[in-house]
Amino acid sequence: MNVPFILLADDEASFVETMAKRLDKRDLKVITALGGEEAIEFLDRNRNVDVVILDVKMPGMDGIECLREIKKKYPLVEVIMLTGHATVETAIEGMKLGAFDYLMKPCEIENLVEKVNQAARKKQEHMEKIKEAQIREALSSHGLE
Ligand SMILES: [Mg+2]
Repeated sequence: MNVPFILLADDEASFVETMAKRLDKRDLKVITALGGEEAIEFLDRNRNVDVVILDVKMPGMDGIECLREIKKKYPLVEVIMLTGHATVETAIEGMKLGAFDYLMKPCEIENLVEKVNQAARKKQEHMEKIKEAQIREALSSHGLE
């Protein structure tokens, strides 16, 4: 599998900077956004993002709103929600809306890396299934299967 491409969206600039550095050290390809709107704009321009790590609580477009938008526009992109104690219920709501998983802040980097890899694998498998189905359909429409 290719190195997972991650978008980290959180409104705390220092948190984003620290986490991005740590993920980068673990050979993950990371880019960052400081809010929901910025995250969506990035996804609109870059169709190769595998996993979004998304803060629940952000001013402007919050995590849930952003998650809805991502799942509507890019259903194959996997989303991991980051939450504080006060917003656990929101993270659970996120799971119902299609988030891959959620983690409590401050989160262990090892946990996050593991979740990111699991999410990236799920997306990869999902894409392979779609490709196989498309090939089968193309073959059968040409009377080859
Ligand atoms: Mg926040």
